[in-house]
Amino acid sequence: MAGLTGLSLKAALDGLASKTFSSEEITRDHIAAVEASSALNAFVVETPDKALDMARASDARRASGDAGPLDGAPLGIKDLFCTDGVESTAGSMILRGFRPTYESTVTSNLWRDGAVMLGKLNMDEFAMGSSNETSAWGPVANPWRAQGSNANLTPGGSSGGSAAAVAAELCLGATATDTGGSIRQPAAFTGTVGIKPTYGRCSRWGIVAFASSLDQAGPMARTVEDTAILLRSMAGHDPKDSTSINAEVPDFASFCGKSVKGLRIGVPKEYRVDGMPPEIDALWEQGIAWLKDAGCEIVEVSLPHTRYALPAYYIIAPAEASSNLARYDGMRYGLRVEGGNLTETYENTRAQGFGEEVKRRILIGTYVLSAGYYDAYYLKALKVRRRIADDFDQAWQTCDALLTPTAPSAAFALGEKSDDPVAMYLNDIFTVTVNLAGLPGMSVPAGLDAQGLPLGLQLIGRNLDEGTLFSLGSAIEKAADFRAKPQKWW
Ligand code: GLN
Repeated sequence: MAGLTGLSLKAALDGLASKTFSSEEITRDHIAAVEASSALNAFVVETPDKALDMARASDARRASGDAGPLDGAPLGIKDLFCTDGVESTAGSMILRGFRPTYESTVTSNLWRDGAVMLGKLNMDEFAMGSSNETSAWGPVANPWRAQGSNANLTPGGSSGGSAAAVAAELCLGATATDTGGSIRQPAAFTGTVGIKPTYGRCSRWGIVAFASSLDQAGPMARTVEDTAILLRSMAGHDPKDSTSINAEVPDFASFCGKSVKGLRIGVPKEYRVDGMPPEIDALWEQGIAWLKDAGCEIVEVSLPHTRYALPAYYIIAPAEASSNLARYDGMRYGLRVEGGNLTETYENTRAQGFGEEVKRRILIGTYVLSAGYYDAYYLKALKVRRRIADDFDQAWQTCDALLTPTAPSAAFALGEKSDDPVAMYLNDIFTVTVNLAGLPGMSVPAGLDAQGLPLGLQLIGRNLDEGTLFSLGSAIEKAADFRAKPQKWW
């Protein structure tokens, strides 16, 4: 791997600050790594010229002494974030050729703080998926492979491009979004760190909407501290998003390495699901032991409505998606497939522009919102959602954070589950509850399975208490001492 791409974001920022290297140098190394990585299919749009312009501007700012907190650091941007003048397709054919005339708030915040954009990252179409296989631009390959195998594995989804790019050292960090697990599950599958902050921490303005009451942006990077540094820049109140929280954004990095002594960690008994690989169970036990060694108190808690979370999510998310995706009609954005009249043009555009999974979600969503079924499905799912949030509130009476596995398996093979939507949806079993309740959740790499594939542990916190997750996440990171890297084959 080229010279400076293996540094953590923190080490890179220190090197830039001490003028050990310039932003132009570290950006050039990353551009070369991106160009050599086409076998991964992680980037859908590369913006090397823009990156070099931004890097030179950063070097100039640094020379004149007014560098921002991320100045000069090259990042990748999930293609769900609208970027001014740069094609933004959300992994969908229907947005092919769409160049926004505005910049999302989250990416604006990153550029305000001096970051450099390398390009746009592949993802499941409209963020619907857990394997990156629903992307109109083809799947992303996980940089990790099982020992002795050269079969391509999924990097997880929907932020598979972000996860693969971070794991393969194509960027120092990446933006991602999480509606039901799309930051945490890909982080677990690629040995990277990802945090979905509290709903409302990051503005959704300028992010292509999937399910607005669940969607939340967050960072992915190779260390807990790096995600803390990125989140501080990404987060903040935005009057353009009515669900954005007007709360102070703490210096998240200051929580990393802080003592976790005396914290009470809940272990929810309902997360011990049937058929979970024994290695994941063992890793969970290991995580519990690590936190105990670090001075935490372990308590068993119950989240009794857990088993209804997945069905409720797969009603609420498609319902909101069917409404959000109504705007793609061939008139305003991207693709238009002409027909004999206006209705036919709408139909042709949507028939050809959307992929199978997106169509499935629109059908389910329209069905559960239709007059005869609204109460039976949608309203019921909202009631379940309330109960799930209440379960967590109850848990916070006896604990400060929860520890669970992130996903029920390690990375699986591309094609393994793509014909079975239910098997695919089951992947989200440990992650969707957090979105339904709006809570912050983090995945930290904690070990390798017998095939040499990374596994992650999930930490769940109280509303707006990302700080505790950063402290616990760095305690696990330290105890696990996870240094494994994928063997370069791409
Ligand atoms: N896998 C889940 C889904 O397909 C979650 C996706 C996400 O978080 N964007 O809906």
